[in-house]
Amino acid sequence: MADAPRLRFAPSPTGYLHVGGARAALFNWLVARRTGGEFLLRIEDTDRERNRPELTDNILEAMRWLGLDWDGDVVYQADHLDEHAAGARSLLAAGDAYWCDCTPEDLEARRGKGASGYDGHCRDRAVAEGPTTALRFRAPDDGTTEFDDVIRGSVSFDNATIEDFVLLRSSGLPVFLLSNAMDDAAMGITHVVRGEDHVNGTPKYLLLRDALGLARPDVIAHLPLLVNESRKKLSKRRDSVAVGEFRERGFLPEAMMNHLALLGWGPKDDVEIRPMREIIERFRLGDVNPAPAFFDEKKLEHINAEYVRALSPEAFVDAVEPFLVRPERSLEPIRQLAPVLQQRVRVLPDAEPMVDFLHLDEPVRDQASWDKVMGKDPAVARAMLKSTIDAFAEVEWDADALHACLLRVGEEHGLKLGKAQAPVRVAVTGRSVGPPLFESLEVLGRTATLERLHAALDDLGPAGA
Ligand code: GLU
Ligand code: ZN
Repeated sequence: MADAPRLRFAPSPTGYLHVGGARAALFNWLVARRTGGEFLLRIEDTDRERNRPELTDNILEAMRWLGLDWDGDVVYQADHLDEHAAGARSLLAAGDAYWCDCTPEDLEARRGKGASGYDGHCRDRAVAEGPTTALRFRAPDDGTTEFDDVIRGSVSFDNATIEDFVLLRSSGLPVFLLSNAMDDAAMGITHVVRGEDHVNGTPKYLLLRDALGLARPDVIAHLPLLVNESRKKLSKRRDSVAVGEFRERGFLPEAMMNHLALLGWGPKDDVEIRPMREIIERFRLGDVNPAPAFFDEKKLEHINAEYVRALSPEAFVDAVEPFLVRPERSLEPIRQLAPVLQQRVRVLPDAEPMVDFLHLDEPVRDQASWDKVMGKDPAVARAMLKSTIDAFAEVEWDADALHACLLRVGEEHGLKLGKAQAPVRVAVTGRSVGPPLFESLEVLGRTATLERLHAALDDLGPAGA
C-alpha cells in the first residue's frame, strides 16, 4: 500500500490570508483529512523585502479561525536557505547549472526593451563565480516536460520555451522556485495542490526535481482561478478578499469553509450546504472543475444565514457578542430571543439593531420610523398607546397573551393588528421593523415596556397640539 498522502499549504507572507489562499489550504486539508494523510504548513518567507512577520501571524490566525488545523510544526522556508543553495551548487557540479555575469543592461540590449527571457549567452562561456554572477539552470533545449494534472488533464510544455532560469541570485540567495521544489521534496510532499497561477512554473519545478534526483510528486493539481461578478480575477484592490475581513463582517467560520469548498468543486448530489465532515467524505480533487470559480458574496451570505439559523441559542449569543455595542449588559434577554433573531440575521452585525432595545436604557429612535408611524396620525397613535398602557398593566406577561391583548385593543379602535402594533413597536424598540414584537416584549418585561409606552406618549404631546 502506498504511504499516506502528505499535502501542504505554502503561503508567502507578503499579504493577508486571502480567500484564494484559504481555498487552496482547504482543498489540501480535505484530501489529508479524508485519506488519513498529513496536512503541513510551510511559510515561504524567503522574499526578505516583501515579508512582514505580522503577516505570518495573520495567516496562522485566519487558519485557526477557519479550523484549518495543520499537522506538526510550521516549517519556515527561510530556515533552509543553506540547503537550497547547496542543492544549486550540486547542480553546478553536475553540469546542470552555470554562472552568468550578464547585467540587466546586457540582457536588455540583446533582446530589446520590454522583452523577457534569457538567451543562454553564458552557457558555454565558463564564467567563474564572482560577486555579481548569478547561477542559472541549464534547461533542456528540446523535448517536452509533461505532467498529469488531476484537474486539467495532461499538460505539456515545450522545453525550448523554458529559459535557463536563475537558481542563485548574485547575492547568493536561492530563488523561490528552487526553495519551493526542494522543500516539497524534503517534507515528503506527495500531492502538490496549488493555484492556477503556478502552472507555468511547474515544468521548471519538475525539471529541477529531476536534475536534483528528487522523485516527482505523485499528484499535481492546479486549482481554478477565483473571479468576481464581472468575471475578473479577484483583486486585492477591487474586491474584498482577506479572510480576516469576512470575519469582521460577521461571517461564521463554518459558513466560510462551506462556501470555500464550493469554489471549483460541487458535490454530485448538488446539496451545497452540508457539515464539514460530509464535505471531507465526498471531496475528490478529480471532481474539481478547471473553469474559473465565481466567488459569490450573495451566496456566501445565504450560506451564512443558514449556519446562523442552525446555531444553538448559546452559540448564537457567543457569536453575536463581539458585534454588540453594549456587550457588558446581561446577554440573557438576547439568549431568550435567539430563536426568532436567528431567523433574521444574515451576518452577525445584523443582530445589533434588532436587540439594542433590550440592552439600552432607552430605545434608539429611528426618526424615519417615528415620522412614518407616529407623525402621520398622532391621534391614532396616542389612542393606541393609551389603551395599550392600560391593557398591558394587567395582562399576563407572555407572548401569546400580549398578542391576544393587542389584537383586542386594536379592534376597539377599528385597527387591524399591523396598524395597531406599529406605534407600540416604535415606542418600545425605536424602529418600525424588527424581531417579532410579542416575543420581544415578553423578553423586555412589563416595567420597561410600560415606561417606554409612557415616554412615547409624552413625546407625542397633548391631543390637539
Ligand atoms: N508561496 C506560493 C504562493 O503563495 C505557493 C507555492 C505553492 O503552493 O507551491 O503563491
Ligand atoms: Zn549570462
